[in-house]
Amino acid sequence: MKTRAAVLHKIGHERPYTKSKPLTIEDVELEAPGHEEVLVKIKAAGICHSDLSVVDGNRPRPVPMVLGHEAAGIIEKVGDHVKGFEVGDHVVFAFLPSCGHCKFCQSGKTALCEPGAAANADGTLLSGDIKITKDGEKYYHHLGVSGFADYAVASIHSLVNIDKSIPFEVAAVFGCAVLTGVGAVVNTAEAKAGESILVVGLGGVGLSAVLGAHAAGASKIIGADVSAYKLGLAKDFGADEVVNSEDDDAMDQVKGMTDKGPDIAVEFAGVMPALDFAFNATKRGGRTVTGALPSPDARLSLNPLTLVGQEKSLKGCYLGSGSPKVDIPNFMEMYQAGRLPVQKLITHRIKLEDINEGFERLAAGDAIRQIIIFD
Ligand SMILES: [Zn+2]
Ligand SMILES: [Zn+2]
Repeated sequence: MKTRAAVLHKIGHERPYTKSKPLTIEDVELEAPGHEEVLVKIKAAGICHSDLSVVDGNRPRPVPMVLGHEAAGIIEKVGDHVKGFEVGDHVVFAFLPSCGHCKFCQSGKTALCEPGAAANADGTLLSGDIKITKDGEKYYHHLGVSGFADYAVASIHSLVNIDKSIPFEVAAVFGCAVLTGVGAVVNTAEAKAGESILVVGLGGVGLSAVLGAHAAGASKIIGADVSAYKLGLAKDFGADEVVNSEDDDAMDQVKGMTDKGPDIAVEFAGVMPALDFAFNATKRGGRTVTGALPSPDARLSLNPLTLVGQEKSLKGCYLGSGSPKVDIPNFMEMYQAGRLPVQKLITHRIKLEDINEGFERLAAGDAIRQIIIFD
Protein backbone atom coordinates (compact mmCIF):
# COMPACT_ATOMS: atom_id res chain seq x y z
CA MET A 1 0.00 0.00 0.00
CA LYS A 2 0.99 3.64 -0.35
CA THR A 3 1.47 5.91 2.67
CA ARG A 4 2.63 9.46 3.34
CA ALA A 5 5.86 9.63 5.36
CA ALA A 6 8.42 12.20 6.57
CA VAL A 7 11.79 11.11 5.18
CA LEU A 8 15.33 12.16 6.15
CA HIS A 9 17.71 11.76 3.18
CA LYS A 10 20.84 13.39 4.57
CA ILE A 11 22.30 13.96 8.02
CA GLY A 12 23.61 17.32 9.16
CA HIS A 13 21.36 20.03 7.76
CA GLU A 14 21.98 23.65 8.67
CA ARG A 15 19.52 25.54 10.83
CA PRO A 16 17.06 27.08 10.58
CA TYR A 17 15.25 23.89 9.59
CA THR A 18 12.38 26.00 8.28
CA LYS A 19 14.79 26.91 5.44
CA SER A 20 16.93 23.76 5.03
CA LYS A 21 13.87 21.46 5.40
CA PRO A 22 15.64 18.24 6.49
CA LEU A 23 12.49 16.15 6.16
CA THR A 24 10.49 15.70 2.99
CA ILE A 25 6.92 14.44 2.91
CA GLU A 26 6.73 11.65 0.35
CA ASP A 27 4.41 8.90 -0.81
CA VAL A 28 6.21 5.63 -0.08
CA GLU A 29 5.33 1.97 -0.51
CA LEU A 30 4.62 -0.04 2.64
CA GLU A 31 4.77 -3.85 2.41
CA ALA A 32 2.15 -5.97 4.16
CA PRO A 33 2.94 -7.05 7.75
CA GLY A 34 4.79 -10.38 7.99
CA HIS A 35 5.51 -12.84 10.79
CA GLU A 36 4.61 -11.31 14.19
CA GLU A 37 4.02 -7.92 12.54
CA VAL A 38 1.01 -5.62 12.25
CA LEU A 39 -0.08 -2.59 10.23
CA VAL A 40 -0.83 0.42 12.42
CA LYS A 41 -2.77 3.53 11.39
CA ILE A 42 -0.86 6.27 13.19
CA LYS A 43 -3.10 8.71 15.08
CA ALA A 44 -0.51 10.80 16.97
CA ALA A 45 3.30 11.07 17.04
CA GLY A 46 5.55 13.19 19.26
CA ILE A 47 8.69 14.99 18.09
CA CYS A 48 11.48 14.02 20.51
CA HIS A 49 15.01 15.30 20.96
CA SER A 50 16.31 11.91 19.78
CA ASP A 51 14.71 12.58 16.38
CA LEU A 52 16.59 15.86 16.32
CA SER A 53 19.79 13.99 17.23
CA VAL A 54 19.42 11.96 14.03
CA VAL A 55 18.79 15.10 11.97
CA ASP A 56 21.84 16.94 13.40
CA GLY A 57 24.13 13.88 13.33
CA ASN A 58 24.58 13.34 17.09
CA ARG A 59 22.90 9.97 16.77
CA PRO A 60 24.03 8.63 13.39
CA ARG A 61 21.53 6.34 11.66
CA PRO A 62 21.36 4.96 8.11
CA VAL A 63 19.46 7.08 5.56
CA PRO A 64 17.06 7.46 3.87
CA MET A 65 15.00 6.92 6.99
CA VAL A 66 11.37 7.56 7.96
CA LEU A 67 11.81 9.26 11.35
CA GLY A 68 9.61 9.19 14.45
CA HIS A 69 9.85 6.90 17.46
CA GLU A 70 7.07 8.08 19.80
CA ALA A 71 3.63 7.24 18.43
CA ALA A 72 0.22 5.71 19.04
CA GLY A 73 -2.41 4.34 16.70
CA ILE A 74 -4.91 1.63 15.77
CA ILE A 75 -4.10 -1.82 14.37
CA GLU A 76 -5.59 -2.17 10.88
CA LYS A 77 -4.13 -5.51 9.76
CA VAL A 78 -2.29 -8.41 11.41
CA GLY A 79 0.37 -10.67 9.85
CA ASP A 80 1.13 -14.34 10.60
CA HIS A 81 1.55 -15.73 14.12
CA VAL A 82 0.32 -12.56 15.79
CA LYS A 83 -0.79 -13.30 19.33
CA GLY A 84 -2.20 -10.75 21.78
CA PHE A 85 -3.07 -8.10 19.18
CA GLU A 86 -6.19 -7.75 17.03
CA VAL A 87 -7.52 -5.41 14.39
CA GLY A 88 -9.00 -2.38 16.14
CA ASP A 89 -6.67 -2.52 19.16
CA HIS A 90 -5.20 0.79 20.28
CA VAL A 91 -1.42 0.58 20.68
CA VAL A 92 1.55 2.66 21.69
CA PHE A 93 5.05 2.05 20.29
CA ALA A 94 8.11 1.42 22.45
CA PHE A 95 11.30 2.63 20.75
CA LEU A 96 13.20 -0.60 21.44
CA PRO A 97 11.70 -3.96 20.51
CA SER A 98 12.07 -6.69 23.13
CA CYS A 99 12.60 -10.09 21.50
CA GLY A 100 11.59 -12.01 24.62
CA HIS A 101 14.27 -14.66 24.02
CA CYS A 102 17.72 -13.13 24.61
CA LYS A 103 19.38 -13.44 28.01
CA PHE A 104 18.51 -9.84 28.90
CA CYS A 105 14.82 -10.23 28.00
CA GLN A 106 14.76 -13.54 29.87
CA SER A 107 16.07 -11.85 32.99
CA GLY A 108 13.55 -8.99 32.76
CA LYS A 109 16.07 -6.43 31.47
CA THR A 110 14.24 -5.77 28.23
CA ALA A 111 15.86 -2.32 27.94
CA LEU A 112 19.06 -4.23 27.07
CA CYS A 113 17.54 -6.58 24.46
CA GLU A 114 20.41 -7.39 22.09
CA PRO A 115 18.46 -8.35 18.93
CA GLY A 116 16.30 -5.25 19.53
CA ALA A 117 19.34 -2.97 19.77
CA ALA A 118 20.90 -4.56 16.66
CA ALA A 119 17.71 -4.06 14.62
CA ASN A 120 17.50 -0.42 15.75
CA ALA A 121 21.13 0.24 14.78
CA ASP A 122 20.55 -1.37 11.37
CA GLY A 123 17.32 0.58 10.76
CA THR A 124 15.25 -2.61 10.32
CA LEU A 125 12.31 -4.17 12.11
CA LEU A 126 13.09 -6.86 14.71
CA SER A 127 12.80 -9.50 11.95
CA GLY A 128 15.64 -7.78 10.05
CA ASP A 129 13.18 -6.81 7.31
CA ILE A 130 12.65 -3.38 5.80
CA LYS A 131 9.04 -2.74 4.81
CA ILE A 132 9.31 0.78 3.38
CA THR A 133 10.45 1.40 -0.20
CA LYS A 134 10.22 4.04 -2.90
CA ASP A 135 10.91 3.23 -6.56
CA GLY A 136 12.66 0.05 -5.38
CA GLU A 137 14.96 1.87 -2.92
CA LYS A 138 14.79 0.77 0.71
CA TYR A 139 13.92 3.39 3.33
CA TYR A 140 15.12 2.53 6.84
CA HIS A 141 12.89 2.25 9.90
CA HIS A 142 13.57 4.52 12.88
CA LEU A 143 13.84 2.48 16.10
CA GLY A 144 11.26 0.00 14.81
CA VAL A 145 8.59 2.72 14.74
CA SER A 146 8.86 5.30 11.89
CA GLY A 147 5.82 7.05 13.28
CA PHE A 148 6.02 10.21 11.17
CA ALA A 149 3.72 8.58 8.61
CA ASP A 150 0.04 7.85 8.10
CA TYR A 151 0.74 4.13 8.45
CA ALA A 152 3.55 1.97 9.88
CA VAL A 153 4.34 -1.74 9.83
CA ALA A 154 5.87 -2.82 13.13
CA SER A 155 6.85 -5.90 15.11
CA ILE A 156 4.37 -6.79 17.84
CA HIS A 157 7.44 -6.78 20.12
CA SER A 158 7.59 -2.99 19.61
CA LEU A 159 3.97 -2.49 20.68
CA VAL A 160 1.94 -2.26 23.86
CA ASN A 161 -1.86 -2.55 23.99
CA ILE A 162 -3.53 0.39 25.69
CA ASP A 163 -6.90 1.33 27.14
CA LYS A 164 -9.11 2.79 24.40
CA SER A 165 -10.22 5.67 26.64
CA ILE A 166 -6.74 7.26 26.58
CA PRO A 167 -6.44 10.00 23.92
CA PHE A 168 -3.87 9.11 21.25
CA GLU A 169 -1.93 12.37 21.70
CA VAL A 170 -1.45 11.52 25.37
CA ALA A 171 -0.74 7.84 24.73
CA ALA A 172 2.07 8.68 22.30
CA VAL A 173 4.24 10.41 24.91
CA PHE A 174 4.27 7.29 27.10
CA GLY A 175 6.42 5.50 24.50
CA CYS A 176 9.53 7.63 25.02
CA ALA A 177 9.28 10.72 27.27
CA VAL A 178 7.22 9.19 30.07
CA LEU A 179 8.75 5.72 29.90
CA THR A 180 12.26 7.19 30.13
CA GLY A 181 11.66 10.07 32.55
CA VAL A 182 9.49 8.28 35.09
CA GLY A 183 11.48 5.05 34.68
CA ALA A 184 14.76 6.84 35.46
CA VAL A 185 13.35 7.95 38.81
CA VAL A 186 11.48 4.82 39.90
CA ASN A 187 13.44 2.04 38.16
CA THR A 188 17.02 3.26 37.67
CA ALA A 189 17.38 5.45 40.77
CA GLU A 190 14.86 3.37 42.76
CA ALA A 191 13.55 6.52 44.44
CA LYS A 192 12.00 6.04 47.86
CA ALA A 193 9.35 8.28 49.42
CA GLY A 194 10.98 11.14 51.30
CA GLU A 195 14.10 11.45 49.13
CA SER A 196 15.11 14.73 47.50
CA ILE A 197 15.45 14.70 43.71
CA LEU A 198 17.23 17.06 41.32
CA VAL A 199 16.26 16.92 37.64
CA VAL A 200 18.80 18.50 35.26
CA GLY A 201 17.50 19.20 31.74
CA LEU A 202 13.79 20.02 31.59
CA GLY A 203 12.66 18.90 28.14
CA GLY A 204 9.94 16.29 27.66
CA VAL A 205 11.91 13.55 29.42
CA GLY A 206 13.12 15.78 32.27
CA LEU A 207 9.65 17.17 32.96
CA SER A 208 8.34 13.58 32.94
CA ALA A 209 10.98 12.84 35.58
CA VAL A 210 9.64 15.75 37.64
CA LEU A 211 6.15 14.20 37.41
CA GLY A 212 7.64 10.81 38.34
CA ALA A 213 9.48 12.30 41.33
CA HIS A 214 6.24 13.88 42.52
CA ALA A 215 4.33 10.61 42.13
CA ALA A 216 7.12 8.70 43.92
CA GLY A 217 6.75 10.90 47.01
CA ALA A 218 9.92 12.98 46.81
CA SER A 219 10.42 15.30 49.78
CA LYS A 220 11.78 18.03 47.54
CA ILE A 221 12.04 18.34 43.76
CA ILE A 222 14.48 20.77 42.16
CA GLY A 223 14.50 21.47 38.44
CA ALA A 224 17.64 22.80 36.74
CA ASP A 225 18.04 24.07 33.20
CA VAL A 226 19.51 27.02 31.31
CA SER A 227 16.20 28.03 29.73
CA ALA A 228 13.91 30.47 31.54
CA TYR A 229 10.96 29.05 29.57
CA LYS A 230 11.61 25.52 30.85
CA LEU A 231 12.34 26.63 34.41
CA GLY A 232 9.01 28.45 34.35
CA LEU A 233 7.21 25.26 33.32
CA ALA A 234 8.90 23.05 35.93
CA LYS A 235 6.94 24.46 38.86
CA ASP A 236 3.68 23.65 37.10
CA PHE A 237 4.93 20.04 36.83
CA GLY A 238 5.59 19.78 40.56
CA ALA A 239 9.10 21.17 41.08
CA ASP A 240 9.42 22.90 44.46
CA GLU A 241 12.45 24.94 43.43
CA VAL A 242 14.19 25.79 40.17
CA VAL A 243 17.80 26.71 39.51
CA ASN A 244 19.41 28.19 36.42
CA SER A 245 22.44 25.89 36.18
CA GLU A 246 24.43 28.66 34.45
CA ASP A 247 24.25 30.85 37.58
CA ASP A 248 27.67 31.19 39.19
CA ASP A 249 26.28 29.98 42.51
CA ALA A 250 23.97 27.30 41.05
CA MET A 251 25.73 24.50 42.95
CA ASP A 252 25.49 26.39 46.24
CA GLN A 253 21.80 27.04 45.58
CA VAL A 254 21.11 23.31 45.13
CA LYS A 255 23.19 22.34 48.18
CA GLY A 256 21.37 24.98 50.23
CA MET A 257 17.92 23.80 49.16
CA THR A 258 18.72 20.26 50.33
CA ASP A 259 20.72 18.55 53.04
CA LYS A 260 24.08 19.21 51.27
CA GLY A 261 22.76 17.89 47.97
CA PRO A 262 19.88 15.79 46.67
CA ASP A 263 19.67 12.05 47.33
CA ILE A 264 19.10 11.57 43.62
CA ALA A 265 20.07 13.63 40.56
CA VAL A 266 18.78 12.64 37.13
CA GLU A 267 20.20 14.26 34.01
CA PHE A 268 18.53 14.56 30.59
CA ALA A 269 20.35 17.45 28.93
CA GLY A 270 22.89 15.40 26.94
CA VAL A 271 25.76 17.84 27.45
CA MET A 272 28.72 17.28 29.76
CA PRO A 273 28.38 20.40 31.92
CA ALA A 274 24.88 19.20 32.83
CA LEU A 275 26.01 15.70 33.79
CA ASP A 276 28.96 17.16 35.68
CA PHE A 277 26.57 19.46 37.56
CA ALA A 278 24.21 16.57 38.38
CA PHE A 279 27.01 14.34 39.65
CA ASN A 280 28.69 17.01 41.74
CA ALA A 281 25.38 18.17 43.23
CA THR A 282 24.47 14.65 44.40
CA LYS A 283 25.01 14.25 48.14
CA ARG A 284 27.27 11.71 49.88
CA GLY A 285 25.89 8.24 49.28
CA GLY A 286 23.54 9.54 46.59
CA ARG A 287 22.73 8.27 43.10
CA THR A 288 23.21 10.12 39.82
CA VAL A 289 21.35 8.81 36.78
CA THR A 290 21.88 9.90 33.18
CA GLY A 291 19.33 9.14 30.50
CA ALA A 292 20.30 11.66 27.83
CA LEU A 293 22.03 10.92 24.54
CA PRO A 294 25.24 12.98 24.36
CA SER A 295 27.37 13.26 21.23
CA PRO A 296 29.31 10.01 20.59
CA ASP A 297 32.54 12.03 21.04
CA ALA A 298 31.61 13.38 24.49
CA ARG A 299 33.84 12.44 27.44
CA LEU A 300 33.10 12.95 31.13
CA SER A 301 35.79 13.96 33.59
CA LEU A 302 35.00 13.05 37.18
CA ASN A 303 36.91 12.52 40.37
CA PRO A 304 36.68 8.75 40.97
CA LEU A 305 37.62 9.24 44.62
CA THR A 306 34.10 10.57 45.22
CA LEU A 307 32.70 7.23 44.03
CA VAL A 308 34.67 5.53 46.82
CA GLY A 309 35.11 8.13 49.56
CA GLN A 310 31.50 9.35 49.30
CA GLU A 311 29.94 6.12 48.02
CA LYS A 312 28.30 7.98 45.17
CA SER A 313 27.04 6.04 42.17
CA LEU A 314 26.54 6.98 38.53
CA LYS A 315 24.15 4.89 36.46
CA GLY A 316 22.93 4.96 32.89
CA CYS A 317 19.27 4.61 32.02
CA TYR A 318 17.87 3.46 28.67
CA LEU A 319 14.13 2.99 28.03
CA GLY A 320 13.61 3.80 31.72
CA SER A 321 15.49 0.64 32.77
CA GLY A 322 12.23 -1.25 32.71
CA SER A 323 9.90 -3.21 30.49
CA PRO A 324 7.47 -1.23 28.29
CA LYS A 325 4.82 -3.94 28.49
CA VAL A 326 4.83 -3.63 32.29
CA ASP A 327 5.68 0.04 32.85
CA ILE A 328 3.48 1.67 30.20
CA PRO A 329 0.21 0.12 31.46
CA ASN A 330 1.24 0.92 35.07
CA PHE A 331 2.15 4.52 34.27
CA MET A 332 -1.11 4.88 32.26
CA GLU A 333 -3.10 3.78 35.31
CA MET A 334 -1.31 6.49 37.29
CA TYR A 335 -2.27 9.00 34.57
CA GLN A 336 -5.91 7.86 34.69
CA ALA A 337 -5.90 8.25 38.47
CA GLY A 338 -4.60 11.83 38.09
CA ARG A 339 -1.20 11.02 39.61
CA LEU A 340 0.82 11.48 36.42
CA PRO A 341 -0.60 14.44 34.47
CA VAL A 342 1.51 13.84 31.36
CA GLN A 343 -0.92 15.77 29.14
CA LYS A 344 0.92 18.87 30.42
CA LEU A 345 3.90 17.87 28.25
CA ILE A 346 1.95 18.71 25.09
CA THR A 347 2.73 22.30 24.10
CA HIS A 348 1.91 22.15 20.38
CA ARG A 349 -0.27 20.14 18.01
CA ILE A 350 0.88 20.23 14.40
CA LYS A 351 0.32 18.63 10.99
CA LEU A 352 2.77 16.26 9.31
CA GLU A 353 3.47 18.84 6.57
CA ASP A 354 4.62 21.33 9.25
CA ILE A 355 7.25 18.95 10.65
CA ASN A 356 10.30 21.05 9.71
CA GLU A 357 8.83 24.02 11.58
CA GLY A 358 8.40 21.62 14.50
CA PHE A 359 12.06 20.58 14.39
CA GLU A 360 13.19 24.20 14.33
CA ARG A 361 10.95 25.00 17.31
CA LEU A 362 12.43 22.03 19.22
CA ALA A 363 16.02 22.98 18.33
CA ALA A 364 15.34 26.54 19.48
CA GLY A 365 14.07 25.24 22.82
CA ASP A 366 10.61 26.76 22.32
CA ALA A 367 8.59 23.58 22.76
CA ILE A 368 8.29 20.57 25.05
CA ARG A 369 6.20 17.98 23.20
CA GLN A 370 4.84 18.80 19.79
CA ILE A 371 2.36 16.16 18.71
CA ILE A 372 1.72 15.50 15.05
CA ILE A 373 -1.98 14.75 14.77
CA PHE A 374 -3.11 12.45 11.94
CA ASP A 375 -6.71 12.37 10.68
ZN1 LIG B 1 12.51 9.91 22.29
ZN1 LIG C 1 15.72 -9.67 23.82
